Amino acid sequence: MQPASYDPLYLFIDGCWLDAGLRDTAAVVNPATHAVLGRLPLANLSDLDRALRAAGQSFTLWRRTAPAERARILKAGAELMRERSEHIATLMTLEEGKPLAESRDEVLRAADYFEWFAEEARRIDGRVVPANRPGVLQLVKREPIGPVAAFTPWNFPAITPARKLSAALAAGCSVIIKPGEESPATALALARALDDAGLPKGVLQVVFGRPDEVSAHLIASPVIRKVAFTGSMPVGRLLAGRAAAGVKPITLELGGHGPVLVFEDADLEAAAVGGAANRFRGTGQICISSTRFLVQRKVYQQFTERFVAATRALVVGDGLDAATQVGPLANARQLDKMTSLVEDAVRQGARLLTGGHRIDGPGYFFAPTVLADVPLSARIMHEEPFGPIAVLLAFDDLEDALEEANRLPYGLSAYAFTTDARTAIDVADRLEAGMIGVNQYRIVATELPFGGIKESGIGSEGGAEGIHHYLVNKFVSQA
Ligand code: NAD
Repeated sequence: MQPASYDPLYLFIDGCWLDAGLRDTAAVVNPATHAVLGRLPLANLSDLDRALRAAGQSFTLWRRTAPAERARILKAGAELMRERSEHIATLMTLEEGKPLAESRDEVLRAADYFEWFAEEARRIDGRVVPANRPGVLQLVKREPIGPVAAFTPWNFPAITPARKLSAALAAGCSVIIKPGEESPATALALARALDDAGLPKGVLQVVFGRPDEVSAHLIASPVIRKVAFTGSMPVGRLLAGRAAAGVKPITLELGGHGPVLVFEDADLEAAAVGGAANRFRGTGQICISSTRFLVQRKVYQQFTERFVAATRALVVGDGLDAATQVGPLANARQLDKMTSLVEDAVRQGARLLTGGHRIDGPGYFFAPTVLADVPLSARIMHEEPFGPIAVLLAFDDLEDALEEANRLPYGLSAYAFTTDARTAIDVADRLEAGMIGVNQYRIVATELPFGGIKESGIGSEGGAEGIHHYLVNKFVSQA
């Protein structure tokens, strides 16, 4: 087999593709093989200042570029992403590890966001408000908020940057984005498509570096007017504090601990087989993943058998192999975390039904794992595992199930399976989550808002709602 090719890595600042030169670099590693794919240039403070200058200067031009022209460029960018999707998907699988089919799907969905927000750019409007004095014209306008600093993680290297970039650029904002250092080539390929589509220089910069240094420097700058972050709760809190110090709004997407409520009247096959596929997709490194399966006692045993059988049937391997359904974890830290979460749960009385161990050989592989009857004191019942471990628990009635589902400070995704319409309405009403799937696990679509409540985040991305975080109100009262 021809070795799959990886792209050279750059910083993209003020329309220039900057290679490492004398800068520090970090290795980018294939998590399935440990092979070093490339060296990533890390921005120094003068790079960041150059990015800030470019974002500030280009904003004055981009905000006044007609929405139809902004839309034309974003759509052309989306088209180039689609044309290049096979190559970008390969980059993604090499650096992130997910199966190639999932990478392809992600690139195409990322392109869809650019097309969606290109259309939304043309729908930004305002209001004329009647005045209480004659001869006065009162206008309410929606204007771009200003240059944006965006931070995205490694697990969805196309779609997470796409949700932020597409909405911000459509609104007329310039952006400095720092994608995850673990999977940089995918975001660079999206930027390349936008550059080739004619995005004016300086409107978008892509930087990498020491994350804490980069975020501290960018967020403190008076140039930046808006912050957007996807990642863990501790880092989200830190960045929210930095944004607050500069009175800058922040959009946060911080992960979850998705409960799934399976009632005794549910289609068990759909809940169990779909549940295993959903839980282990992306090796469980998905913020909206279903983690805690709460099953009504009468069907608990039956559900458990089907779920475990579906889990055991999953093929784990290198994402470049066509048969692979579950790839590696991102890094050794994640592997150690899985091992310690399983050990802790078993020590406290959980039943390990399958998996529970790392897989020998190169690569950060961990066997898809099912734990049943896990006591609430176990760490995994509080911490987001962000890996391939499912937790099964029995419940007696609706109140029990909702109490457990809503117990945690997370509120991102939740799922329910029932054929009773009354129960479906009740649980959808009372589950504390920003995104709820009833009788299905597919809850993400370009046209829908994506985001959490409680400590899972602030604001949502995508849908008609996603552009509003990048706009501010201004009124003009004219006599
Ligand atoms: P993390 O929050 O430390 O890192 C996520 C991203 O944020 C990375 O790309 C990192 O470069 C960046 N980051 C880290 N510190 C930063 C800082 N001070 N300023 C700016 N950016 C910073 O998470 P991780 O260690 O990569 O992953 C572990 C946990 O993060 C997971 O267990 C999961 O809970 C969470 N996570 C959530 C999502 C999500 O989609 N919500 C994605 C990735 C990770």
